[in-house]
Amino acid sequence: MYTDIKTILDDASKNNYGVLAASAINLELARGLIAAADELQAPLIILMGQIQMTKHARADVMVPLIRTLAEETNVPVALILDHGRDWDVITHAFRNGFSSIMIDASAYEMEENIKRTQKIVELCHPQGVAVEAELGHVGQASSGDQDLSEFYTKPEDVTEFLSHTHADCLAIACGTAHGQYPKGVIPQIRFDIIRAVKEVTDVPIALHGGSGSGDENIKRAVEAGINKVNVCTEIFNYVRDDIRKALDENPDLDLLSLVSRAERAAKEIGKHFILLTGSQGKAANFQKTSGFAHGFAELNLGIGE
Ligand SMILES: [Zn+2]
Repeated sequence: MYTDIKTILDDASKNNYGVLAASAINLELARGLIAAADELQAPLIILMGQIQMTKHARADVMVPLIRTLAEETNVPVALILDHGRDWDVITHAFRNGFSSIMIDASAYEMEENIKRTQKIVELCHPQGVAVEAELGHVGQASSGDQDLSEFYTKPEDVTEFLSHTHADCLAIACGTAHGQYPKGVIPQIRFDIIRAVKEVTDVPIALHGGSGSGDENIKRAVEAGINKVNVCTEIFNYVRDDIRKALDENPDLDLLSLVSRAERAAKEIGKHFILLTGSQGKAANFQKTSGFAHGFAELNLGIGE
């Protein structure tokens, strides 16, 4: 079932679990990840970044694709524009049927962040589109931003920010960063910040930069109160490495077999993260519709194998 992040995350917040929010920029990733959620009966959020969308995964193509796949499973699936910064990109996603929008004005001071977030909430809420905002700033792992405590969310600002913006989900900065950490680096997550934010609000909170953060850290972050765990790089890398392995084993592998294998890899890594977030079986908390009809196995047509 196609839904929005508020529907999913309010349940996660109420029942103290996390939900995987994973990037899917093509058919294989979308099918693999939704199949993982379907098998584990877990809610799922699909992320589409602003750059991913403008460079490759066009909203007018991807929204119907994800919507169709989502409607074929009973598990709730939401689609969110990740880190929307520009008005034209945000309205493009909105017009094309994204169920949720993230407005990232975290590079600005709080007053300006509030103003920009309010504008998006005013656009989205009357149409039933849910909004995620960011307070504090989650930077880039390649620049070591995870260690910059001046970027971290100040729990004492959270109530004011949320009372002015009415955002449905709040991304916080607490020691993670986007992309790939340098080799051997596992971020030091400030669980105390997560707990302190959770104490002052019922609004679901999101951890960005989940890739490479370490399985134990993700589990502990969810225990501390995180409800949405964003993962992109680690999923992309896992699928890429699997494709490389497939071609190493058989350089003449036909394309259909290769993309089927990529889809299977996306399902595997998706299941791994779903289990870390503790959302398996939680689809039962939502109203059931129909069953999932197009598991990846159907792609194995035997052609060229
Ligand atoms: Zn992010």
